[in-house]
Amino acid sequence: MNIQELDKKYVLPTYARADVEFVSGDNARLTDANGKKYIDFTSGIAVVSVGHANKRVNDAICKQLSNITHISNLYHIGPQAKAAQKIVETSGYDMQCFFANSGAEANEGAIKIARKHGERDGTIKRYKIITLQHSFHGRTITTVKATGQEAMHNYFGPFPDGFVYANDIDSIEALLDDHTAGVMIELIQGEGGVQPQDKAKVQALAKLLKDKEIPLIVDEVQTGAYRTGEFTASQLYGIEPEIITLAKGIGGGVPVGVVMTSLKGVLGAGDHGSTFGGNFLSTTAICEVVDILNETKQSGALDATIAYFNEGLEKFYEGHKTTFTDKVGLGLMCGLRVKDAETLSKVLNAARESGVMVLKAGRNTLRFLPALTITNSEIDEGFIALENAMKIVEQ
Ligand SMILES: *Cc1c(COP(=O)(O)O)cnc(C)c1O
Repeated sequence: MNIQELDKKYVLPTYARADVEFVSGDNARLTDANGKKYIDFTSGIAVVSVGHANKRVNDAICKQLSNITHISNLYHIGPQAKAAQKIVETSGYDMQCFFANSGAEANEGAIKIARKHGERDGTIKRYKIITLQHSFHGRTITTVKATGQEAMHNYFGPFPDGFVYANDIDSIEALLDDHTAGVMIELIQGEGGVQPQDKAKVQALAKLLKDKEIPLIVDEVQTGAYRTGEFTASQLYGIEPEIITLAKGIGGGVPVGVVMTSLKGVLGAGDHGSTFGGNFLSTTAICEVVDILNETKQSGALDATIAYFNEGLEKFYEGHKTTFTDKVGLGLMCGLRVKDAETLSKVLNAARESGVMVLKAGRNTLRFLPALTITNSEIDEGFIALENAMKIVEQ
């Protein structure tokens, strides 16, 4: 049986996969099983932040693997402590970290911290978590309920209680009550359509919540690890959340989740844990990824890449205003609104045919999440391929 047949026979059909099998990668370049070459404008949904087959990350992992992969969280783990230091110092926030294995798990940890903090005086049980419509927070029973998309709540219930959905940032205040344990938002909704929140509104919300002693949780699973140009989007927005979650890009392809918080005393021994979280393998990857990204930022290369990519995208958008209605996003988390769903799916297929990988997101958005290390020539080639794709779409 070939790979497609094996997949069909043995893997649960939870993904509508495209009929492509990639066999090798190099930074923003991919090659499929037929030898066809692609430019990758997706970095595995913002995961491979330092590119495919990054030699420094691979060397660091291999060196660690030739020694210890995993012991357990019952003992000190050198790279875990160092990864926490790098993350906290890079963020500039006075926080501590807990290590998990995915974005959903990081968000679970965040919700646990907010809820335990909500019981701090023993008399009131603050348990409600307010999230936004069109949000995406994960696929576990709790985080799928935290996700403000009703279609995702059709099955799987009963869910944990206490999730309340606000239409937008403005309508959060009216939903706060004595039982609110926290407010969880993405600063740029990724799956929901690459929609940045308004900075002044977010700052006003952060201040309101501080005054009311309600923790602000920022889900930076997609926006974190320099995706927006700063290490966290929270820094870009000039706010100090009580809890931030990271995952996707911070591991460079190794499955990790991080919840970081200024509420250091809330969880004690036994309150939370993870068998795999923060092991030698995954935190070695985090250390190397954060070092690489810090250097890329400090040298000015990241800002230059962001500018170059956005110029290319702007030019592409200007040339196809009959198909695209708006350009959205921040940093290397960008999108073009497409006039309708049918055209979006045509663009996605034509792009793949023409040799460039792009993504879709909510609100009929064509989504771009390239590696933060993508080169100018990779960017140029990607947009040439996209121009070719548009000849197919617009013919
Ligand atoms: C991808 C994503 C998640 C879920 O992460 P998993 O690693 O798939 O569990 C949660 N929140 C946001 C904002 C995401 O983009």
